[in-house]
Amino acid sequence: MDATANHESVEAHQLERLRRLTDAVLPSNEFYRRKFADCDLERIESIQQLQSLPFTTKSELVEDQRLHPPFGSDLTAAPEQYIRVHQTSGTTGHPLYWLDTEESWEWWANCWKVIFDAAGVTAADRIYFAFSFGPFIGFWAGWEGARKVGALAISGGAQSTAQRLRAIIDNAATVLVCTPTYALHMAAEAKKAGIDLANSSVRITIHAGEPGASIPSTKRVIEESWGARCFDHPGATEIGAFGFQCEQQRTAVHINEHEFIAEVINPESGAPAGENEQGELVLTNLRRIGSPVIRYRTGDLVQPSDEACTCGRPFLLLQGGVLGRVDDMVIVRGVNVFPSAVENVIREFTEVEEFRIEVFEREALRELRVIVEPNRAQPNATALCRQISQRLRQRIGLRAEVESVAPDTLPRFELKARRFFRL
Ligand SMILES: [Zn+2]
Repeated sequence: MDATANHESVEAHQLERLRRLTDAVLPSNEFYRRKFADCDLERIESIQQLQSLPFTTKSELVEDQRLHPPFGSDLTAAPEQYIRVHQTSGTTGHPLYWLDTEESWEWWANCWKVIFDAAGVTAADRIYFAFSFGPFIGFWAGWEGARKVGALAISGGAQSTAQRLRAIIDNAATVLVCTPTYALHMAAEAKKAGIDLANSSVRITIHAGEPGASIPSTKRVIEESWGARCFDHPGATEIGAFGFQCEQQRTAVHINEHEFIAEVINPESGAPAGENEQGELVLTNLRRIGSPVIRYRTGDLVQPSDEACTCGRPFLLLQGGVLGRVDDMVIVRGVNVFPSAVENVIREFTEVEEFRIEVFEREALRELRVIVEPNRAQPNATALCRQISQRLRQRIGLRAEVESVAPDTLPRFELKARRFFRL
């Protein structure tokens, strides 16, 4: 079967699930009943019909929860049917609380099984979760997914970095699940403690929460320091575990199109982006019926590709994973810059352990400053800064001021890292 025929079978599957979703949601979900009051949803004949519906935005959901506290009105089931509540990390404003039913929590676990299977994780593996297991959904669903795979799950909740490194070695963990930033932080701490992670039993690392595992330099540093193959997984609390990386891909991620319908739009006009054109990812989750999102604007910028993956999965590929937040793009002296592009250059310098990017105005001109923190006192920090500055100029055509600070000055992150600031 060729790629087009394969994708047609995906669409037939999506259509059936979309009908089931709207049949369940429209009679009993207040939020979508109000939102779709003027839409003709009697009979959905094609996936394309979805495009006639209005988008759902994060600010709408935040507003809905403010008006209908605490969980809002995007609820399809009776209150007693919900078994889990999580909250978003709230890095970009007000946190959202999100409920799941037994059925939708099971769905999350199965989406994570897809992630594990694609990375080559099996029942023989021991998965260590370097995660605090707090109210943020993070890797709670991954924890459930490990059970679906039949692997041994090891919790890293309430542990220091040193205790986590010890636990990974003592339990002979073979898979590490955490944010890309935290994987780098653990590697830096291991190096200081004389622990040889590259020769540890860890063979696979899976990362979410930030796009790092799809940024080539960041991926390379994680893989070298852990002696493991690194996989990216984009997902979100209010949407689900929508993306995964297969063993055939180094930088592209698949969308799990059996469970999600993906659209790519022009973030300004809201019109569909041209074929293989960059744009904002819009998602509909098909089987989180108790608390769904339909045509949800993720705010993530992506580059779709119609390439058929050699793994044989007929699912859409996004080149470079999530490239960044649509809002994070800045134009500095006519150059379009994404924080991830700057990170890709900075991570080429193994002396740099942490960094921060600042955008500021000087004499009405927008300027970019990069603050780097070396992993130990550098005898010639000025030379390092100059090299980074030159590399940024060569690689992304960007003039940036680069400054260094002493080791252990910048904050460290276990969940979502915050390194990009508009001053
Ligand atoms: Zn693939």
